Amino acid sequence: MAELKCPGCRKEFDNNNPESLVTRGVAAAVCGTAGAIFGAEVGIVGGPIGGIAGTVPGGALGAVTGWFLADQFRRCPHCSKVFKT
Ligand SMILES: [Zn+2]
Repeated sequence: MAELKCPGCRKEFDNNNPESLVTRGVAAAVCGTAGAIFGAEVGIVGGPIGGIAGTVPGGALGAVTGWFLADQFRRCPHCSKVFKT
């Protein structure tokens, strides 16, 4: 039994708590959003158009990554923050 500490609210919860499990769809959405932001930040170096162009592949890459890494993500049962373990 492992205890995890939420990076959002600092509360601890059980790693095996069913409430904390993250589905692949949720992980893909979270990573897709993060990937889109990351892609936009990388792309913005090339100008405003690069920011837009970077959003799409960044989001797609993030979503795929989230899909495969879903079992490494947990959702805090206290504040609903999703984070990577
Ligand atoms: Zn929390």
